[in-house]
Amino acid sequence: MSGQRPGSGRLLALLAICAGAFPAHAAQTPASDGNTYYTRADFPRVLKIDAHVHVHGPAQRFMAQAIRDNFRILTINTDYPDFPPIPQQQAAAIALRQRYPGRVAFATTFSVENFSAPGWTDAALKQIDAALKEGAVGVKMWKNIGMSLQDADGTYVMPDDSRFQPLIARLESANAVLLGHQAEPLNCWLAFDRMTVRSDREYFREHPQYYMYMHPEMPTHEVILAARDRMLSAHPALRFDAVHLASLEWDVDKVAEFLDQFPNAVVDVAARMVHIEYQAASNAANVRRFLLRYQDRILYGSDDAYGPGDADPAVVAEVHAGWVDDWRFLTGADLLHSAEFTEWFPGLHLPRNVVDKIYRRNAQRVFARGWAAPAAASTR
Ligand SMILES: [Zn+2]
Repeated sequence: MSGQRPGSGRLLALLAICAGAFPAHAAQTPASDGNTYYTRADFPRVLKIDAHVHVHGPAQRFMAQAIRDNFRILTINTDYPDFPPIPQQQAAAIALRQRYPGRVAFATTFSVENFSAPGWTDAALKQIDAALKEGAVGVKMWKNIGMSLQDADGTYVMPDDSRFQPLIARLESANAVLLGHQAEPLNCWLAFDRMTVRSDREYFREHPQYYMYMHPEMPTHEVILAARDRMLSAHPALRFDAVHLASLEWDVDKVAEFLDQFPNAVVDVAARMVHIEYQAASNAANVRRFLLRYQDRILYGSDDAYGPGDADPAVVAEVHAGWVDDWRFLTGADLLHSAEFTEWFPGLHLPRNVVDKIYRRNAQRVFARGWAAPAAASTR
């Protein structure tokens, strides 16, 4: 979605019984399956990474909460009109990284202004090189590629466009990650009564211009993702973070197919946890199997967007509540409910070693330099 967390504001109701499928066990004691499990009390104790946030401005309240909740963050610059201009986003990310050494990593992005002009690729390369020098661990390609950027003749520019190739080659040689958000949740192409979750219905009701069901003249979900996949096939060495569950959020089996097809790709769950919860309501065993099988390929992310305003404590309270809800869903075994849909769903009760990978180790591996403390700011 747009950087606004569709699941925000939800509060998981907790039924005080255990879900039969995944009975709860004491955290430290190995369960009968040989695994150990985290509890809610472990939440602030375990070091975690939110690998998908958009933090703007000084964000003191946000960072204080991240420290209390034991989160490191990856803040992702995005070519999104509602965010500050890209240079401002990047300057804020670099400053944040300096102020919180070892806690903040950032990914840059590129502008598509003057995309059809001859010098665009060189200008974008320059922008990317400068950001990598400043410590960026990756580059975001946003959904405007495939959904809104057009050539002079009206053709929609797709992710496999030849003008992106030098950028991708540069990322490959720099061992940097391309973070791709292409297309939207499938709900965007469906009638309201067929959408699975409340937040998507609300968002597209309020933003008819982004509601593709109303725009049959625009590229389809399938066409956009096929172009993305052609780009990935052409660059097998590219390290790719397919954010938002690779826009295949409605079916974990589809995400599995994607991960099988592209061994260098990982996915994040940012702003799509609700879709995992929705599937858990009808087939928790399948969802859990997916997370266990791809435990090395999945990154935790919230998609929380914060700042540049930093005055309202209610905003960080909501961030905190969302982080706790997600922890409860992935680690716990209680039966849960959210305002997103009517069915109850069980916590997935993932073993500690899997939780550690999804919440920390995978991000540390993929963005290897990300949370190293930056060199001290130059005084010259
Ligand atoms: Zn985002």
